[in-house]
Amino acid sequence: MTTTVRPEALAALDAADPLAAFRDRFHLPRDVVYLVGNSLGALPEAARARVAEVVDREWGDGLVGSWNTAGWFDKPRDVGELLAPLIGAAPGQVLVCDTTSLNLYKALFAALALRPGREVVVAEAHAFPTDLYMIEGALGTREGHRTRLIGRDAPDLASALNEDVAVVVLSHVDYRTGALTDLAEATRQARAHGALVIWDLCHSVGALPVDLDAAGADFAVGCTYKYLNGGPGSPAFVYVARRHQEAARQPLSGWHGHRAPFEFAVGYEPAAGIDRFRTSTPQVLSYAPLEASLGMWREVDLGQVRAKSLALTGLFMDLVESRLGAAGVEVVTPRDERRGSHVALRHEHSYGIVRALADRGVLGDFRAPDTMRFGFAPLYLRHLDVWNAVAAMEEAVATRAWERPEYANRPTVT
Ligand SMILES: *Cc1c(COP(=O)(O)O)cnc(C)c1O
Repeated sequence: MTTTVRPEALAALDAADPLAAFRDRFHLPRDVVYLVGNSLGALPEAARARVAEVVDREWGDGLVGSWNTAGWFDKPRDVGELLAPLIGAAPGQVLVCDTTSLNLYKALFAALALRPGREVVVAEAHAFPTDLYMIEGALGTREGHRTRLIGRDAPDLASALNEDVAVVVLSHVDYRTGALTDLAEATRQARAHGALVIWDLCHSVGALPVDLDAAGADFAVGCTYKYLNGGPGSPAFVYVARRHQEAARQPLSGWHGHRAPFEFAVGYEPAAGIDRFRTSTPQVLSYAPLEASLGMWREVDLGQVRAKSLALTGLFMDLVESRLGAAGVEVVTPRDERRGSHVALRHEHSYGIVRALADRGVLGDFRAPDTMRFGFAPLYLRHLDVWNAVAAMEEAVATRAWERPEYANRPTVT
């Protein structure tokens, strides 16, 4: 039992960790235990040099010629190919561009058009709200379509599905609880009813192996600034299975998705293949840190990432339950392996506890109304960090640190 876990034993696990060397390739402030890598990944050291290179050489010296000589025009496609192995995608199916919200919008329209005569979009009531907001915005422009929300209109996916369903939008890992959905099984269920699935991989890419091609997936979207460490606002990705590309049309038909953007023709004709999911000028500077990080990810064994993620989250849950359970801290995340790489806890004073932990150098985040989230990025966290985080929480809870008056004010971003 982990109630008897000792820090010396954890230090030994860290010493034997096959991923240990990656920690040195990140900039991490001293005396901080960073448990928010599921929201904004830490800075890979290699990113600095890449950013400097893009700014100084490609922009400064190369000027407009860099659209060709530095490959700026092809960034969405080229960086998409760097990312593709992390989501089990064969070449030619992934673009890195725009944001997750925008890519969801594009994928949704394309998927709806592939299922004419079906009017229902199934989504999860507990989805990350931007997904629901984008669906609402998209359906607001179309007559007749409506949503059916799992958790509000239907208890689960199986009962939400019927022959009216055009598209299902699902999160692979729940942003709040960390619960992991079986991607292959849910895809199979939806396909059995003739529906298409759009997967939101924001909380799974870089946290566990994802195998879209093997699952027969249709569409997927996700962001790169969480576990992939692409930097604040780094561009998102969109996956479109090759079999859908020829027929797929997306609504944000900007010039970079055109068959021949530099013909400056009057009418829109989509590019062949995945390129039709581009919209417009890539945010070149935002690709730089992501490229550096993805270069590092090429050396990473995702099986080792998954094993360490389960070990760190499991250790955290064990320690929290044994040390803080009696003080009213409840583990929300599933205890079996159906979980991603973050852990959600609940307590009456969650917000104040998160603030008190930050003042003790342990960074987590708060999700309204009462959830604390702690992300465990396997590339740069150690077993000892888990121990130290729980020790800090024990002290904060024992001293009712949430009572400090300054914690009554909440900043814009929690
Ligand atoms: C982080 C996250 C997003 C973010 O969307 P943006 O368009 O990048 O702001 C979307 N969906 C989920 C599930 C997320 O976790």
